[in-house]
Amino acid sequence: MLEQLQAKADRFEAVDLVVVGGGITGAGVALDAALRGFDVVLVERGDFASGTSSKSSKLVHGGLRYLQQGDVALVREALRERSILQRIAQGRVEVLPFLLPIFTKDGLFPRRIARALGSALWAYDTAGGWRIGRFHRRLRKSGVAKMAPLLNSDRIAGGYLYYDARADDARLTLDVAATAVREGAVAVNYCSLTGVKVKSGVVNTVELDVDGSHISLQTRCIVNAAGVWAERVDDLVNDELAEPLPALTVRPARGVHVTIPWELVQTQVAMVLPVPGDKRSVFLVPDKPQPDGSFDVAYIGTTDTDHSGTLDDPACTSDDVDYLLRSVNAAMESSVTRDHVIGVWSGLRPLVTSDDDIEGRTADVSRRHRVDMSSSGYVRVVGGKLTTYRSMAEDTLNHVERILGKRKPCSTHKTPLVDRNPRLLDTIRSNTSSSNFPLHSTLTEPEVLYAVRYEAAVHLVDVLTRRSRLHLLHRDLAMECAEPVSFIMQQELGWSESTRQQELQNYNDLCHSEIDAMREGIR
Ligand SMILES: Cc1cc2nc3c(=O)[nH]c(=O)nc-3n(C[C@H](O)[C@H](O)[C@H](O)COP(=O)(O)OP(=O)(O)OC[C@H]3O[C@@H](n4cnc5c(N)ncnc54)[C@H](O)[C@@H]3O)c2cc1C
Repeated sequence: MLEQLQAKADRFEAVDLVVVGGGITGAGVALDAALRGFDVVLVERGDFASGTSSKSSKLVHGGLRYLQQGDVALVREALRERSILQRIAQGRVEVLPFLLPIFTKDGLFPRRIARALGSALWAYDTAGGWRIGRFHRRLRKSGVAKMAPLLNSDRIAGGYLYYDARADDARLTLDVAATAVREGAVAVNYCSLTGVKVKSGVVNTVELDVDGSHISLQTRCIVNAAGVWAERVDDLVNDELAEPLPALTVRPARGVHVTIPWELVQTQVAMVLPVPGDKRSVFLVPDKPQPDGSFDVAYIGTTDTDHSGTLDDPACTSDDVDYLLRSVNAAMESSVTRDHVIGVWSGLRPLVTSDDDIEGRTADVSRRHRVDMSSSGYVRVVGGKLTTYRSMAEDTLNHVERILGKRKPCSTHKTPLVDRNPRLLDTIRSNTSSSNFPLHSTLTEPEVLYAVRYEAAVHLVDVLTRRSRLHLLHRDLAMECAEPVSFIMQQELGWSESTRQQELQNYNDLCHSEIDAMREGIR
């Protein structure tokens, strides 16, 4: 892809648009643009999905919580998008049953709470929950115990079951970016926007940095899809324009997840659990189903707090971990401790704030997206959700078209997303039958080779955290695999021995900083 970017730059002809940010938002914009016939380049300064888009709760959902906050329009939009995603990413968006347990109050059945939850779920079904093909239903105490036998039986009064969906966020982002490339886009990771040149107050050229090399590329339009870094991209672009965009305030809200062994919670379904002493609730999600009907791990998330530290490396503190474990231990006959935590991830929500929500809880700030457009060739899209990336991209392209002129209507809703090519994977498998590098069963040598050859994995951490999810779900196993994976990548990418050692060192540093932060509460 880098060669194609260089070739475009060498032609000295302007591309239609450059999208800055290879998270789900930027990938979605690049795909929509390519399908409408625009000449589009997507640049990501790290790995694709290395920002927030690999650190979500991985739910493709309407968000029952937003309904309770009165944002029916957002829930409707997200539930519509959920069903589109089920269609265009078949096999990668799986239905996820959710249990909403009802706990006794002072030993009594809490009728008012049960009625309120029931009404909220009817409203959720009506807003589009029905599209999944199943309605919510009420459960007796025995039904709840069957699905989640370790829930505290003294406190359980009953519950509700409803349905949402989930997807691997990083993989979805890669698939959207790969589909954009199939449709003619150029997408380059480890490529940063470092500056912009304007001519007569209008966007003319982007200055890019790829591994220390500089590329100038002429463009008619820039789309800022840089998530929590959007203000920084604004600083590079906005002041130079004849018609600058209004200033933007992004309020980064940190969200942490932890993974624990499934035996500790033994739930068959995802759950929404209240956090003692807080008005919020958290999700407990079983993951990695096993042939015997059990699961390998479960993850708990998420926190939702203001983040004031560095945007590049949001810390997961011991307080965050304790907050999440508290909710599980209060609801279940379990005593999960920090020592049980086998994986952790921490991300920042790019919340767009108005004057009204500079103060107050981040959990109450709207999850809607916002698109701004300057006729000087600059469009900015911020906020939203993983689930709604497609409609955000459609909205963004409708603005871009006002700058570039109309091409075609949006067709992302009927364009299936590229999936891993099983034939290519099989070919690699048959050529690597006697593996030199035995890895864990969830990450095989052919998968590493596939990630490097066809999925733009450049660094060890790309493979361990985003092409596979081993690091998030089982850090110890990922650490065991790091050395053999580094040898495979060395052979494939021609790394020197010192590069391989540096890659291992970088990955070990990441693991140890996570472990230390959880132990000490600071990072
Ligand atoms: C804890 C948590 C849980 C969540 N759970 C869910 C969920 O379950 N379901 C759901 O629908 N949504 C969820 N979300 C929201 C969702 O994850 C985000 O809305 C979405 O991932 C944001 O994507 P993005 O592309 O806008 O930002 P990002 O993924 O952060 O992408 C922006 C990219 O821009 C790049 N960039 C920055 N500056 C430059 C530059 N100068 N040059 C090139 N590239 C640059 C960055 O490296 C980054 O990769 C959650 C969010 C969090 C934090």
